[in-house]
Amino acid sequence: MKMLSKLLAVLAVPTLLAMPPTASAAEVVVYSARNEQLIKPLFDAYTRETGVEVKFVTDKEGPLMARLKAEGKNTPADLFLTVDAGNLWQAAQEGLLRPVNSTALKANIPAHLRDPDNEWFGLSVRARTVVFNRNRVKPGELSTYEDLADPKWKGRLCLRTSKKVYNQSLVAMMIWEHGEDQTEQIVRGWVRNLATDPFPDDTKALEAVAAGLCDATLVNTYYFGRLMEKKPNLPLAVFWPNQSLKSRDAGVHVNVSGAGVTRHAKHEKEAVRLLEWLSSDKAQNLYADENMEYPANPRVKWDARVTSWGSFKQNLINVAEAGKLQAKAVMLMDRAGYR
Ligand code: FE
Repeated sequence: MKMLSKLLAVLAVPTLLAMPPTASAAEVVVYSARNEQLIKPLFDAYTRETGVEVKFVTDKEGPLMARLKAEGKNTPADLFLTVDAGNLWQAAQEGLLRPVNSTALKANIPAHLRDPDNEWFGLSVRARTVVFNRNRVKPGELSTYEDLADPKWKGRLCLRTSKKVYNQSLVAMMIWEHGEDQTEQIVRGWVRNLATDPFPDDTKALEAVAAGLCDATLVNTYYFGRLMEKKPNLPLAVFWPNQSLKSRDAGVHVNVSGAGVTRHAKHEKEAVRLLEWLSSDKAQNLYADENMEYPANPRVKWDARVTSWGSFKQNLINVAEAGKLQAKAVMLMDRAGYR
């Protein structure tokens, strides 16, 4: 009898190993353009809470979108996660995402931070605003994005390259507000006011302002936060433009990082549940605070460091416009000589 049970046990092992994974296995697969350091703690927390395993692949958004396209119906990916509404819009445009009808997502994420067709949802907010040198800019000198085109800023402005999607999205939203002609005049003004050639990234632009090479720049605030954590004595400060305007031009330009369920998701229900969880109160802090971004869910308290930069009124243009008008923005910046 003992021998028999031993024999059965031995026989059972290979049988179990040979079993294909069942369709009911609780897992969800994410393609993420956000790095592992940011998403792993989040997914680990989700697994602890729900027992659902989150498998993920990280890469840049371009290669991930190409992969989703190439894999088509056979893709293992259930959720696509990336930064910038321009990129999310592109993914939807290429048919890589599917609409999600979720009461929780609609309740948690404000309308201007999600796709009007429900194919993607903002999960964190990034504010693209003015950072200036406290020793070189007098209070009251700064007012709006548009004012940075005024000749009084001649030789005082630094900008990141127009090749980055962040600036393409910013200019796209300005086209939505002002139309192409007026936006081109503003961008031409910025270019005339440049102290030096555009920088490859936001941090380099900030360092130039800190060094006194120029007086002000436009960046996402988390770059300011990162730099100030490393060098707290830099003479830099955040300014929130366009706060007193009453029109639709009012408010700081914001963008999102966000996600959408893939067109060919095999675990659709699990993907929607993960997306809903990411928009919930507890996950929002885990997600936004790690990179000093703002929670997309307006009920969630900001990180203390982020709070210290002050509160501001957001521009309420739907961030999807950043995608729709992106091609126009790229051509406009080229015409205006913004490299
Ligand atoms: Fe960034």
